[in-house]
Amino acid sequence: MRIKTRLIHGGIDGDPHTGAVSVPIYQVSTYKQEAIGVHKGFEYSRTGNPTRHALETYIAEIEGGARGFAFGSGMAALSTILSMFNKGDHLVVGDDVYGGTYRVVTRVFSRMGLEATYVDTSDLAAVEAAIRPETKAIIMETPTNPLLKVSDISALAGIAKAKGVLLVVDNTFMTPYWQNPLDLGADIVFHSATKYLGGHSDVVAGLVVAKDAQVGEDLHFVQNAIGGVLGPQDSWLLLRGMKTLGIRMEEHEHNARTLAKWLSERSDIKRVIYPGLSSHSGHELIQKQARGFGGMISFDVGSAERADEVLAKVKYYTLAESLGAVESLISVPARMTHASIPAERRAELGITDGLVRISVGIEDVQDLIEDLDQALS
Ligand SMILES: *Cc1c(COP(=O)(O)O)cnc(C)c1O
Repeated sequence: MRIKTRLIHGGIDGDPHTGAVSVPIYQVSTYKQEAIGVHKGFEYSRTGNPTRHALETYIAEIEGGARGFAFGSGMAALSTILSMFNKGDHLVVGDDVYGGTYRVVTRVFSRMGLEATYVDTSDLAAVEAAIRPETKAIIMETPTNPLLKVSDISALAGIAKAKGVLLVVDNTFMTPYWQNPLDLGADIVFHSATKYLGGHSDVVAGLVVAKDAQVGEDLHFVQNAIGGVLGPQDSWLLLRGMKTLGIRMEEHEHNARTLAKWLSERSDIKRVIYPGLSSHSGHELIQKQARGFGGMISFDVGSAERADEVLAKVKYYTLAESLGAVESLISVPARMTHASIPAERRAELGITDGLVRISVGIEDVQDLIEDLDQALS
């Protein structure tokens, strides 16, 4: 089954009891037992709920892993992964991962004695050098936000395997439609399903898939112990949203590619960052490990003042954080998502004051071009 078909027919199709084509919302906390310990596979909804179970089965199949898990947010998903480790364990983490990832590692899990070293994961030698005897995992994103830096998942999986550590990939930006880290050797993949998987700016959720059954068992233990699970209503919304992931991602990418090309031909834009452009440093690598380039673009309009002007004038781009929804969203990372990073570190990374990020939606691309054109002129 190809990915587009798998998105429609994967997992648990409908309801075996009634023939309902859509998985019902099992709004229930507990389940009647025939005798003590005799039940139909569900005892209590923190441990397992049929709607959430359908979603978990579905994402496991889509990502090609042994088991899937659904959480109340991407951060709850990551926090559950991190809770598998012990005091004194060490992590190697990408140096420009999502800000919330950085925050929860440095300010929450550090309190429990989990240590971390931040490295550029596109530099394989740096990753290898950062691994210590107590290292338990490498945590990475590719492409990153907002500079869309690409790291080699297979090569990192090779390093992880040789050193006996887990490779954990945040696949939020690419989605399983374009990229399957578990097929490239990663052990755990996770998503902020709030973004492309949900796709309609109406649900906050996180998904995790473990490649092997033992890691899956460990994760289920921690998921049930901590309890940051996704409710049945939101599980259903994700099941619904993901059915159209294929057509949405095709459209996001077509629009992003068209807009990136159009921007790169303008003399008033200093720099356009999109992995689908041959000028992008990760252009070759991303084609090796993914089937597409995604729907995120960044470009430099030159100054904070000019960025303000553009953002004030656009009509079809909603000024907002987040990404991955049907509507185009526009932001200035230096003053929004990345404002907590010190100015000199931002400069080092290349997150300039004039850098504008667009999560390209699925509107008619001609309208997106005309709107951006009037805002820039
Ligand atoms: C949004 C995001 C997260 C956090 O997910 P939430 O659902 O907001 O908790 C993690 N990683 C990436 C890449 C994200 O964009």
